[in-house]
Amino acid sequence: AVTEVKDVVEQVFNNFKMLYPDYVFRFDDDLHEDVPVHIYRDHLEQILIILFDNAVKYSKDRKEVHLSLSRNLNSVEIGVQDFGEGIPQEDVLHVFDRFYRVDKARSRKKGGNGLGLAIAKRLVEGYHGHIAVESTVGSGSLFRITLPIVKEKPIEKDK
Ligand code: ATP
Repeated sequence: AVTEVKDVVEQVFNNFKMLYPDYVFRFDDDLHEDVPVHIYRDHLEQILIILFDNAVKYSKDRKEVHLSLSRNLNSVEIGVQDFGEGIPQEDVLHVFDRFYRVDKARSRKKGGNGLGLAIAKRLVEGYHGHIAVESTVGSGSLFRITLPIVKEKPIEKDK
């Protein structure tokens, strides 16, 4: 399946803007034109919802989420950044594990099972992409995913 990445990213971004009017959402869009990536639209949507959901859920004190979209030669990169509680260094390696939750007591109140990021990672890697996180306790987290771009068919030369 081939999906135009900017189109989906904008859709999810606009939905969250509507759902959380008390948050500031910013979109840094470096793409001049939309880019086709190898993924089902619904799967990309689900990955983005998981990341946005967490960004909102774990940043109640500074309600701001930054989205970025850029490309390299062979891949697009989507960044979802929040300025919330962040993830301790010893937990950061485990947040993509199934059922892993950083603060068991506190996060239970916020709902969730610790499955979202495991699902996101599975999906991204299933499409030969990458997902990674950088985080600092007290200042927030940046999740980045990269997905390979669909290569244009080479123009056939006249024989
Ligand atoms: P759900 O299964 O509903 O997604 P969840 O949020 O607990 O619930 P994950 O999305 O897999 O599950 O996240 C795993 C853990 O990683 C969370 O419980 C939380 O502790 C931590 N985490 C994830 N995203 C963030 C974030 N943006 N900021 C701080 N901590 C985060």
